[in-house]
Amino acid sequence: KFISFEGPDGAGKTSVLQAIGQELSVKYGDDLVLTREPGGNKISESIRNIILDSANTEMDARTEALLYAAARRQHLKETVIPALESGKIVISDRYVDSSIAYQGAGRSIGEDEVWQMNQFAIDGLEPDLTVYLDIESEEGLRRIKTYRTDEINRLDVEDLEFHQRVRSSYLKLAKENSDRIKLVDASQPLEKVLIAVKATMLQKYPN
Ligand code: C5P
Ligand code: MG
Repeated sequence: KFISFEGPDGAGKTSVLQAIGQELSVKYGDDLVLTREPGGNKISESIRNIILDSANTEMDARTEALLYAAARRQHLKETVIPALESGKIVISDRYVDSSIAYQGAGRSIGEDEVWQMNQFAIDGLEPDLTVYLDIESEEGLRRIKTYRTDEINRLDVEDLEFHQRVRSSYLKLAKENSDRIKLVDASQPLEKVLIAVKATMLQKYPN
């Protein structure tokens, strides 16, 4: 079972994953692998540092997309594939949909182009289920400004239009891949979001 969590900034993905992870790890123990891109491996972390380095202001959008795909590939090889092969449940904080939304739509490279390019990296490995936490861009940005505690990086300076492109792209993806991507309204209070996320996961995996 390969599950990814997606969402624009400020959707509450981090809080939701923390709560869900805690609950599921009681039940599944070592059979549950909670991971996030770039996944903590040496190579992907190095790539991620290049992407986030505030000195790299001249980075081309396609370069950024290629680097994300490269980090994704290594994370798959080192973490995701081995875990899936030994029968574990893998939950990933972000996956290819993030690139389609952020680089494809946000940076305006084109969603199809980014999707095509990522095929080489993922070699057909798509999640069985994607939980998409949906939030309006204005509300997402408001939340980031109010609650953001983690470090601010080069990518946190985008304007409202960027975030609106990201969200529209996610909504389109959810519509076009309704079998895989399940939308959860993340504007609700956290407890309600958690209930909806759990219901979504139970619907796909009844036990
Ligand atoms: O998942 P998290 O909110 O920690 O992601 C951190 C940031 O990385 C996001 O706010 C987004 O701006 C950026 N990102 C990106 N392209 C991706 C994945 C993440 O621009 N493919
Ligand atoms: Mg976040």
